[in-house]
Amino acid sequence: MAYQGKVIILGDPAVGKTSLLSRYINGVFKNDYIQTLGANFLIKEIDLKKKIEKLTGEQTKIQDIKEKGFKLYFWDIGGQEDKLFVNEYYFAYSHGAMVVFNLVSRESFDNIEFWISKIYELSGDIPFLLVGNKNDLSDERVITQREIEEKAKEYGVKYYETSAKLDENVDKAFTALSIEILNKLT
Ligand code: GDP
Ligand code: MG
Repeated sequence: MAYQGKVIILGDPAVGKTSLLSRYINGVFKNDYIQTLGANFLIKEIDLKKKIEKLTGEQTKIQDIKEKGFKLYFWDIGGQEDKLFVNEYYFAYSHGAMVVFNLVSRESFDNIEFWISKIYELSGDIPFLLVGNKNDLSDERVITQREIEEKAKEYGVKYYETSAKLDENVDKAFTALSIEILNKLT
């Protein structure tokens, strides 16, 4: 059986969580805002070719992963982003998380603290990344690179600026997260 991991996508409503996943997994972007109902599950078999040399763990384990394959199960929080509704089932047993905010929304950036506190509380010490999405809307941008760098440093994590719309850095961000997850497995 392939190695498997659960990845949760976190962040305020409308930051682009579903769009990022859809871009990464299906290679498409839809402009209309369809609010996600319930949680979505998406599965992706991770192509290991380019990642395997970046792994730092034990050789025999790496070889085993290479032979058996690696699948990630992505959980996309639904219309339940409302803080009152996020529950432990969503967070439990996850291997990694992507914390998304919108570069055009101060509120969504302020709220990453909440999402990260939930990771610590309900998922434990798992790798996660910060993702500032909608970087195509550069004229309306309100969050500076400096601020994000400081946050990322505070939590000791990587951050990426993405555009699900223009397909910028989406693959890069997901790849970085899967490497961190794989490195924890090996
Ligand atoms: P979610 O609620 O976090 O899942 O957000 P959605 O993926 O549903 O996106 C919310 C809205 O933002 C939709 O209208 C998307 O088309 C739009 N959107 C998502 N990603 C981007 C992006 O990178 N750039 C721009 N300009 N709009 C985006
Ligand atoms: Mg959604």
